[in-house]
Amino acid sequence: MTFVPYAVSWNLTGRCNLACDHCYLDANARTCGDDGELTTEQAIDTVGQIAALNPESVLILTGGEPLLRHDLDRIVGAAAAAGLMVVLGTNGVLLDRSAARRLKEAGLAGVGVSIDSLDPLIHDTFRRKRGALSASMQGLAFAREEGLSVQVQTTVMRSNIRDIPLIAQWAHHIGAKVFNLFFLVCVGRGEQMTDISPTQYEETLRWAASEKDRFPGMMVRPKCAPHFKRILHQNNPDDPLLSTYVAACRAGTHYLRITPHGAVTPCPYMETQAGSLTRTSLSAIWADAPELTRFRRPDYEGKCGRCRYRLLCGGCRARALATVGDPMGEDQWCVYEPVGVEAPITTVDTDAKFGVKGESSLAWDADAEAILGKIPFFARPMVRMGVERRAMAEKVERITLEYFRRVSPSPRMFGDAAPPSPVTVETATDAAEIPWTPDAKERVSHAPEFVRPGIPKLMQKRACERGKTVIDSAFLSEIRDESMMLASRRIKKLGIDELSMDAWDAARKKLFAKSPEKIQVIDTITELLNGREQKNGPIVERFSGYMADSLGKKLGWSKEARLRMERAPAFVREKAARAVEGFARENGYRIVNEEALDKALAQMPFGAMTGASPSPDRT
Ligand code: SF4
Ligand code: SF4
Repeated sequence: MTFVPYAVSWNLTGRCNLACDHCYLDANARTCGDDGELTTEQAIDTVGQIAALNPESVLILTGGEPLLRHDLDRIVGAAAAAGLMVVLGTNGVLLDRSAARRLKEAGLAGVGVSIDSLDPLIHDTFRRKRGALSASMQGLAFAREEGLSVQVQTTVMRSNIRDIPLIAQWAHHIGAKVFNLFFLVCVGRGEQMTDISPTQYEETLRWAASEKDRFPGMMVRPKCAPHFKRILHQNNPDDPLLSTYVAACRAGTHYLRITPHGAVTPCPYMETQAGSLTRTSLSAIWADAPELTRFRRPDYEGKCGRCRYRLLCGGCRARALATVGDPMGEDQWCVYEPVGVEAPITTVDTDAKFGVKGESSLAWDADAEAILGKIPFFARPMVRMGVERRAMAEKVERITLEYFRRVSPSPRMFGDAAPPSPVTVETATDAAEIPWTPDAKERVSHAPEFVRPGIPKLMQKRACERGKTVIDSAFLSEIRDESMMLASRRIKKLGIDELSMDAWDAARKKLFAKSPEKIQVIDTITELLNGREQKNGPIVERFSGYMADSLGKKLGWSKEARLRMERAPAFVREKAARAVEGFARENGYRIVNEEALDKALAQMPFGAMTGASPSPDRT
């Protein structure tokens, strides 16, 4: 097997609109110009060289801030036309709707936006720009709305380590496909920064291992954190992720970085230059440069050289270089201590990483082979080897579609390209049921019969969307209020401004005349309401409150949030309410509740002036 890059990370420019504390590139301010950076022609030529080396690799365009390249659309278009999967790594601040649309049209597959914290004080301080968090969130929303796959990327640091679970929940809430965790390697501007301790690193990776598949539709994945594989193996030696390249170091074996000036290095955190594209072809550098080829043999020093996980993990080579001065030295940010010289563990992935032949040795049916062909190139050899190994152990002589579906590792990791049996929100919800508190369950048992069967499914779905770990009575009330408010808004849209039993008749005539099923539902509800008039008072009162609510234009407001907004002076109220509603909608809230209000106000320059800040009794 020859070594080919599965992924190429390309710092398109050193210029940046921000000046983040942790930037490995020490990117300059926008005004510093682009002296000597690859020209458009050179960039297009580079795209061709990457595609010639491996037309199916993933191309990560980043910076600096790649959106500052005026020719970004052209570079994306050329790369997509050459068959590469192109993704953008950006701080998101400059990602407006038109840029997102243009890039999507040019062939961009996805966008990863860096979010350090949901607290503007932390994020904006770190990014050295007021309003950066708000702008980045807006960029994510535009990307998602224009049909790009979005990823949230967070660098784990002391200042945000406690917030990581919250950011994961939020990322899931806004529809991110992946929540990527990055870990600092102290180079560039980050060199002066204090990294997290090895124990904190370990704790974060263990958290990621426990949460990796908890969010339906979103993966939690550490990047450039090879120890993650050691932890996965310690937790479960049969974990399917051990057969993939997740988190592993591929520097020089299947990964390289290109700098803005065309230098090739093993990865973004290693400055060691293997050559320059202005003088040498990429294929020659990749094939011959010792700065890359040295990583194709696992001859590690120190404890990494004695460790049973040395093929599976192997440590971060950039961190070894930064800390002990030797790229083949030990990774001192690992808490594992080998005992003597341990026998290495091998997996399908370690074979793939170190060049064991990945050719087929068993026959495959055409339909199974076709599904395999849809799996991204970089994962395909590993999947093929894994399936064939298992087939041979089970004395299966031919890979049929049925067999492939049964044994392929976690279909979820392949996203849309996975073999059939997609994991939808509904099926994932069934598979990982969120527990109920006894009192919440008890409440549901008293719900009217015609709504009761639908409640568990709805609650599971909403709990998943909002990252809840338990369904309790308060959450039940929240969703009930939300549903009532949405119903009120629909009723108002029918031209009914006051809730009374007559309204049902009006609705029956006006809306549902052509739908016997809906008429039946209305009849059931009115019959029930007529039979329990005593109990209807509080419900009718609550509904009436929502009906009378004239604050919301696009979204309804919870009573508590509305009361707070009504405290705002008249001259600012309408504008603030509109901005809050806009924020709530962009961030996936179905109504404006106090949580949405707090977050929105924190983002607004005039938020503190509205008088809608929390009451003294709220923390
Ligand atoms: S000692 Fe090295 S190879 Fe072993 S788990 Fe730690 S970082 Fe990985
Ligand atoms: S050396 Fe470290 S930072 Fe570079 S690719 Fe490997 S794990 Fe990632």
